[in-house]
Amino acid sequence: MATRNADARPAPTAEPLSSLDALARALRCLPGVGPRAAQRMALHLLQHDRPGARELAHALLRASEAVRHCDRCNTFTEDSVCALCRSGKRDPAQLCVVETPADLVTVEQTHAYDGLYFVLMGRLSPLDGIGPKEIRLDRLIRRATDGVVREVILATNFTSEGEATAHYIAELLAARGLAVSRLARGVPVGGELEYVDAGTLAQALRDRRWVAAPPGGAGNG
Ligand SMILES: [Zn+2]
Repeated sequence: MATRNADARPAPTAEPLSSLDALARALRCLPGVGPRAAQRMALHLLQHDRPGARELAHALLRASEAVRHCDRCNTFTEDSVCALCRSGKRDPAQLCVVETPADLVTVEQTHAYDGLYFVLMGRLSPLDGIGPKEIRLDRLIRRATDGVVREVILATNFTSEGEATAHYIAELLAARGLAVSRLARGVPVGGELEYVDAGTLAQALRDRRWVAAPPGGAGNG
């Protein structure tokens, strides 16, 4: 593609970037934004929305200076400890481990969980050089072994990396005497079996639970 070549080729003169080029280049730090989309965004802001551009610049600056990680759960906050960790309404015996602050928000939106969280800010990915140290698993272990947490719920993604991360954490925490659970996998709410992929259905079979336990049989929980 022409844009790709143009992008890869160094500028013919050593002229400094114009501020328009600099803006387009800066916008490319956003996920999924390539050179053309970045240029469209830059032109749009300058042509149609100068106040919006100024507001964006101020908001970016403010957030990048004010937002930090919670000392307890590692999510984004502007205080040393986030509002969720400070809340007296949450069950401190349950700790849900998620990959990102967005995942935390998603779990919160279910209104089905009232424990606390730990946000990894990533997942193990040896191929990208992301090991236990990079995602600060030592902090998670310290947090989970505070003597109050009784159950750690692993809610990392069901990707191969998320699964590997969950497995690794489970072993670390089980060795320290903690109960560790993993989000169940299965058929989506409202789902019809005919349209569920084979892998999900196979997992749902393996993770099936009793709806009527056999007489004298042990249930699954
Ligand atoms: Zn927190």
